[in-house]
Amino acid sequence: MARYCGSVCRLCRREGEKLFLKGERCFTGKCAVEKREGGPGQHGRGRQAFSNYKIQLREKQKVKRTYGLLEGKFRNTFEIAASTKGVTGTELLVLLERRLDNVVYKLGMGSSRRQARQIVNHGLVLVNGRKVSIPSYSVSPGDVVEVAEKHKKNPLIVAAMEAAKSRVIPEWISLDQAAVRGTVNSVPTREQLPPTIREQLIVELYSR
Ligand code: SF4
Repeated sequence: MARYCGSVCRLCRREGEKLFLKGERCFTGKCAVEKREGGPGQHGRGRQAFSNYKIQLREKQKVKRTYGLLEGKFRNTFEIAASTKGVTGTELLVLLERRLDNVVYKLGMGSSRRQARQIVNHGLVLVNGRKVSIPSYSVSPGDVVEVAEKHKKNPLIVAAMEAAKSRVIPEWISLDQAAVRGTVNSVPTREQLPPTIREQLIVELYSR
């Protein structure tokens, strides 16, 4: 399945809520979800019918799009979560949240997860002093995530860090703004993960 190259705001409008895919614009009045009611396309939300399957599917699509994963990768992550002893839905969210591109985004080093993934892909990020260019790399407690010294003045990163000052950083990670460096304090708990996600619906969908 090819990566989606269309308007990301369209994805938010399809899910009916903000998925924060476009960086700082998402925090302004220019956000398409705030400006325009209903889904994308000529008929918007009016043509939608809500079966159980559709509700489950939309929740899965919402989470998948929020973290910017393709179906295969998302399904793989689900299978890993299902193979653990914990609650599958929670484990899925924890695995998604521990992805390096997500942590870079949450620390404010990228204005969106997409930009954070690029920063990681291009080798600008170090974990415990070593370059890691794999966006799906799973961070662990004690890991130090930072932008490589020679890239700390990169205008994109400086702008993202500045803009992110007003955002709340989750308790399970901490940021040293001046050093452009973050530390993973713990594995996130369900209470520290997005409350709007109904992960049980994803479990039900994949259990059909
Ligand atoms: Fe979604 Fe951000 Fe576009 Fe708003 S501005 S619709 S939150 S991607």
